[in-house]
Amino acid sequence: KNIEKTADDVLSSGNDAKEFKTRAPIITVMGHVDHGKTSILDVIRKSDVADGESGGITQHIGAYTVEKEGFKFTFLDTPGHAAFSAMRARGAQITDIVVLVVAADDGVMPQTIEAISHAKNANVPIIVAVNKIDKHNINLERLYNELSEHGVQTEEWGGDTQFVKVSALKGEGIDELLEAIQIQSEILELKAPIDCRAEGAIVEAHLDKGRGPVATIMVTKGILKIGDYIVAGKVTGRVRGMSDHLGTQLKEACPSVPVEVTGLTEVPMSGDPVNVTLDDKLGREVADLRRSQEEKERGGLSAASTLEELLGKVSSSEILQVNFIIKADTQGSVEAIESAMNKLNSDRVKNTIVHRAVGGINESDINLAETSKTVILAFNVRSSNACSELAERRGIVIKYFSVIYDLVDTVKSLMAGALPPVETEVIQGHAEVRNAISVPKIGTIAGSSVIDGKITRASKLRLIRDEIVIYSGKIGSLRRFKDDVKEVQNGYECGISIDGYTDIKVGDIIEAYMIEESAATLEFSEV
Ligand code: GDP
Repeated sequence: KNIEKTADDVLSSGNDAKEFKTRAPIITVMGHVDHGKTSILDVIRKSDVADGESGGITQHIGAYTVEKEGFKFTFLDTPGHAAFSAMRARGAQITDIVVLVVAADDGVMPQTIEAISHAKNANVPIIVAVNKIDKHNINLERLYNELSEHGVQTEEWGGDTQFVKVSALKGEGIDELLEAIQIQSEILELKAPIDCRAEGAIVEAHLDKGRGPVATIMVTKGILKIGDYIVAGKVTGRVRGMSDHLGTQLKEACPSVPVEVTGLTEVPMSGDPVNVTLDDKLGREVADLRRSQEEKERGGLSAASTLEELLGKVSSSEILQVNFIIKADTQGSVEAIESAMNKLNSDRVKNTIVHRAVGGINESDINLAETSKTVILAFNVRSSNACSELAERRGIVIKYFSVIYDLVDTVKSLMAGALPPVETEVIQGHAEVRNAISVPKIGTIAGSSVIDGKITRASKLRLIRDEIVIYSGKIGSLRRFKDDVKEVQNGYECGISIDGYTDIKVGDIIEAYMIEESAATLEFSEV
């Protein structure tokens, strides 16, 4: 069955579109705990005209759309980078813009930095909402400096990030924040194909006592309609009912519109991809395939990534890149490690630090490691048992150190490991053909004598006639008398057939060789 190749290929094949339409930006709000993410989301939701009309009975479906002067915004309702990265880890990237909330009185905190790393890694532009500006003890200059140290610089200082001062408490600056989002989305020129089978991602899902499995789907392509057959991750179904966050029943949903859908047979997971299929059968095949793949992975048969696979996957351009996350005990350690790693210069492989922070390894690190194909370097810090298990299940490599020298050594060897192995040819021996017998159905058996070294069943070979290589290939069979043998040493007679080649003549020389692979070495120049 060709479906075994890739489920995703099958799902998307023949699903090209000609017509594209502008769509609403999808926004995730991130930031440190208590900096005001929920408050900002609440104020924005309440500012929506439609929301007022509905009498304030909004449903929590995981995302909502607001309209301001004809422009639509879609907000994901679960703030924070945990949900964002968990979704990305499952393959869904539906966020176009990150609003980074930083409380003016508290400044840049650990989760602020994590959020920046996640957004940058996902290549999603950031808009900074400087919140709580109603407070008195605030120092914006210091805040801007701290953010700039983490690569987020305000336009006021010549950077490329929009900063908006808001007070969620007083409802101030919210219009300006929405304006900034609108400007950013116009820069991004967000468009989605319309005339194709709908696709999307599960935002959240749960089992409802009365309605059965209920899932919020963010449509990303096409138009989702009542009656569509869908497959969501490992779950199938048919769209029975659709409604928005105000509880309004819908017949169809366009890209960037989040809708709560009933009609799935089971509860899918957040981040699961959603595809409309022409019939129920294809959806079920895809779901079955995904289930069996997951079982295999759980059984460790094809665990997501061995270190080799991990390193192999990062080779996108000429210069290979190996990604790292640094978690360390102190800021001083983080800086020392970073500067030591920056000194590791090679024109073939570069190391990139996608996130660095003080503290133990948390779930957010594991998610980031998975989406950015990253090795986690832990310096004098540990991960909880739960995180270690999660890492193991997802095939994430964590390396622990207490000496910087050891860490740098490991980084060096991981960088070298990203290079393809060096192949060298090792000649094993030669045999001279003494007679050539043509055997029906089998081909030509060359009665030969090994004149130096040895010939093995696994050898590659070249056929040499009058000092000229006339054929290269591999051994078809290697026999002594009537028995198959693994190898024949110098001085012994044997029968050799060449795989797919019959023109062997008396006096020909068969040269046997092996390809040996060895790890590439990498030269580092100090800078
Ligand atoms: P989250 O953890 O980031 O979602 O933060 P919350 O939205 O729950 O807000 C945390 C606390 O900060 C709450 O007590 C809010 O009332 C308060 N808060 C949020 N925004 C503002 C603001 O603009 N000014 C002031 N003074 N307090 C705020």
